[in-house]
Formats: sequence, C-alpha cells, structure tokens
Amino acid sequence: MEPLVAAVDQGTSSTRFLVFNAKTAELISHHQVEINQSFPKEGWVEEDPKEIMQSVYECMERTCEKLCQLNIDVSNIKAVGVTNQRETTLVWDRETGEPLYNAIVWLDLRTQSTVERLINKTPEKNKNHLKHKTGLPISTYFSAVKLRWLLDNVDEVRQAVLSERAMFGTVDSWIIWCLTGGRNGGVHCTDVSNASRTMLFNIHTMDWDPELCRYFDVPVEILPKVRSSSEIYGWMVSSVNPQTCLFVCKSGSLTGVPISGRPRLSQCLGDQSAALVGQMCFKEGQAKNTYGTGCFLLRNTGTKPVMSDHGLLTTVAYKLGKDEPACYALEGSVAIAGAVVRWLKDNMGIVRSSSEIEKLAAAVGSSYGCYFVPAFSGLYAPYWEPSARGIICGLTQFTNRSHLAFAALEAVCFQTREILDAMNQDSGIPLMQLQVDGGMTSNRLLMQLQADILCIPVVRPTMSETTALGAAMAAGAAEGVGVWNLSPNHLPHVTSEEFEPQINPEESEYRFARWKKAVQRAMNWET
Ligand code: ADP
Repeated sequence: MEPLVAAVDQGTSSTRFLVFNAKTAELISHHQVEINQSFPKEGWVEEDPKEIMQSVYECMERTCEKLCQLNIDVSNIKAVGVTNQRETTLVWDRETGEPLYNAIVWLDLRTQSTVERLINKTPEKNKNHLKHKTGLPISTYFSAVKLRWLLDNVDEVRQAVLSERAMFGTVDSWIIWCLTGGRNGGVHCTDVSNASRTMLFNIHTMDWDPELCRYFDVPVEILPKVRSSSEIYGWMVSSVNPQTCLFVCKSGSLTGVPISGRPRLSQCLGDQSAALVGQMCFKEGQAKNTYGTGCFLLRNTGTKPVMSDHGLLTTVAYKLGKDEPACYALEGSVAIAGAVVRWLKDNMGIVRSSSEIEKLAAAVGSSYGCYFVPAFSGLYAPYWEPSARGIICGLTQFTNRSHLAFAALEAVCFQTREILDAMNQDSGIPLMQLQVDGGMTSNRLLMQLQADILCIPVVRPTMSETTALGAAMAAGAAEGVGVWNLSPNHLPHVTSEEFEPQINPEESEYRFARWKKAVQRAMNWET
C-alpha cells in the first residue's frame, strides 16, 4: 500500500480531516463537521475551543472508519498536518488543560476602541507604524489586540498569567498541544506563517519581537515556540482528553503518528499558506485566491518581504523545513465572503443551505442595480477601516431576495477585484489568470461572475480541498517523514476547469465603479 498523509483542516466554518495518497495526491477519505459560532454582543464572534477539538476528534474517527470500510489500514498514515483559521486567539491553562475563555475569532470587532486608541497614540495617527516589523497595519484582525483584551478583561486569564499557567495560541497551537498530550506533556508551538499574523512576530528576524511584546504589553512566556512550517512537532498520543477524545479512545490507531505542519514545502500552516502550497504556487509571482468565510488572495514574493503601497499585507507564506529559507507573500484579505451567504441563511432565512444561493441568484441573472457591501467586520484590504458597516443600496419595489442573493455574490467578486487591482499595482505585473479554491468555488455562477468582473480567466482545480492538500504535502515532506516529494518534477498533476470572461470590459467597469460608490457609503454611512 502506498503511504498516506492526513491533514486536519480547522477552518472558521468547519473542521475537516482528510487522507491523501502521498504518491498520487488522490483524496482517499475525509469527514467534515460544521463549527458553531456565537455572537454574544454586536461585533463579537467566538467559538468554543472544546467544540473545536471535539470536531477534530470526530472527523478523525469518522475518516478512519471510512478507511476501514475501504479495507485500508490506518497505519499507512505516515504523518498528520495541521492547517487552521489564522489569528483566532485562545488562552488555556497548562495544568488543567481547560480553555480560559472562548476562542476570539479573527472577524471579531470587540477591540475596535483599543485599536483606535493605539492608532491615535502613534505619530501622525499612522496605523502602519509597526508595518516595518510585522508587515501588518494595526487592526482588530490580528491576535495581539485580542490577547490584550483577554488580559484586560478576563480574570481567569490574568490569574493564570500570574501563576505561570497561561498558554496563548492560535488554533494550530491549541490543536497540536491537545493532540500531543495536552496537560500531560503536550507540545506548545506554532509555525512562522501563523506567528506572522499575531503582530508580535518580527517577519525579518523570524522570532517574537521584545519591542512588539512590550508595545502590546504581552508576557513573552505565554507565547508558543515558533517552528518552521514543515518539521515533526510531536507525536499523536492515546490519552489526549478522555472527555472528548472519541478517536484515540476507540481505536488508538493514530497513536504515534508524527504531527508535522507542512513539510519541506510549508507548515503547520495557516490555512491561506496551505492553500498557496496546495495550489503549487511555489514560484515568485504565482498567486491564488481562496473563497471561504473570508476571501484571501496571496501572491508569492519569494524570499524577500515586499511592502505594499496599496493596502496589502506582507506575510510569511511558509518555511518548509528548519534549514530552509522563509518565503513571503503579499496578501489581500477580505473579511466577509462566504460569511455573507451564511448570514443570508442564518440571519435572514433567505436560503436553507449555502449552496441554494446559486439557484436563487441565477433565477434573475442580475442584481438590477442593487449593491450589497457586507462590511460586517469593518472593511479589510485595501481600506482597513474598522468603523465601516454593511449597507444594501439601490433598492426598488422590484427588488426581491434573488436580487439580494445576486448582489451578495457580486460583492465577493468586487472585493476580489479591489485586492487584485492593488496587487497588480504593487507588483507592476498584472495577473493573467486567477487560480481559485475554497468552499465557495463550488458555486459556478460565482466563478463566472468573478471572471466577468476581473476580465481575466478564473481557474478552479477539480479537487477542491486545496488547503488540506497543501497541509498534507508539507506534512509528508517533513524531515523524518519523507513520503512526499516536493521537488518541482514530482508535484502532483492537478486538473482544473477554466471560466472565461463573458461580458465586455466596459460593462464590467461600469458595475465596478458603482460598487466603489457603495463602498464609500459603507465607510461613511454615519456622516
Ligand atoms: P472556511 O475555511 O473559512 O471554514 P470553507 O472554505 O469551508 O470556509 O467555505 C465555507 C464558506 O463558503 C461558508 O461561509 C459558506 O457559506 C460558503 N459556501 C459554501 N458553499 C457555497 C456555495 N455553493 N455558494 C456560496 N457560498 C458557499
């Protein structure tokens, strides 16, 4: 039997566990579980860390059962990679193993006033004044301000810091710590791609930065150790969490399997880095756009960090092995993409499932002048405006839920157009086609709209689980695992489908110009 490599893909909306053939990259088996989000106050978004782990164990258990039904021995899994929603912030107690608060999700806006205060204190109120070290503007998006909030507002967190029991981590750190034993010796680590989204990490020295830690007043002792994206971090253990551990208790079959992030290619990778790897964007200039809860366009800039003049982030894409160089990316982040569809489903009841939106929108084929700016969490790239709020404009008596559905899908495409334009301006070399992936790309109408609005072809791989594939590739290639060959000649062949633009550029420009007007309203709706 050929070696298999697995990946935990812990996203904002769901958790997946997937098993790939390390020689052919074929997806052999997988399972997916949705994650609940809670919105305790306006602008707050939380997830339950225990539910996250429960979903990881459940996905592992079910996937392994499916393998057994296929007569495949689970012991063929040679490594497990972890890829995760980035920035989402957790603190837990190293002695009890208990989370000390819910996970504060990257979309959360509770730190808006902290962010405004920090920006007001900087010379010329410049939100970019830490960018030379972090590649990031000061924003509610990144972990440091969320951690600051936890330290200021949650007694249990403060107490745990004082008694040296607190552990901070993004979701990757939490999962790896739990899977490697938790309070019984779990490994407390993260990788460079995740660390680079905290605002505490210096993307040049590749380590936690004492000055940044002082700036946010974060005790460095609670931070995880930063590792490369592709190395063995530890081994699965059999007694992780007796309350929740379905997987290990029942079968124990993954016990002893090494956990490595992305092997030589990438990481214990943040999800967007994993997608870059899974789309085989290893060369400078190559780019991909992932449509999940949010939307993230990353362009590989090689071993040099490139600073943006157009509102993009500079981020560590991956470091595929301890002795390998780090690769950087320019990133355009859009907070709300699939989340607008989930909102139409959960809050408005306009559709019963996310996939239903395609049929609903296709029924009208146009928004008929309705524009929807879903600035639910402010606006990210290229604006970085936390006080923006969602608006729907251009309504008439004629407008119905189909037009609204269409406008929501168009909003995802317009936001991508804005970050693609910024990326093209920064690099001076326009992208000639856009490689895409993520949960929303199963929506063919969205893909066609995207090609129309960008006026370039959109290319979608046939195998949609690109993020997990990237994680598995990295895990399988890690030193000490070595079952996945990442050299250019051995990259798996990926079939894809292309969507060509079908409208003329003038019409596309006209619609985009109207969208931009709507964005201005969303930014200044109160004034
Ligand atoms: P994440 O990695 O952020 O958890 P996924 O890549 O799993 O996200 O994609 C899930 C998101 O995509 C959800 O927000 C969901 O509403 C949206 N989505 C899924 N299928 C469709 C579809 N057919 N059309 C539009 N949106 C979809």
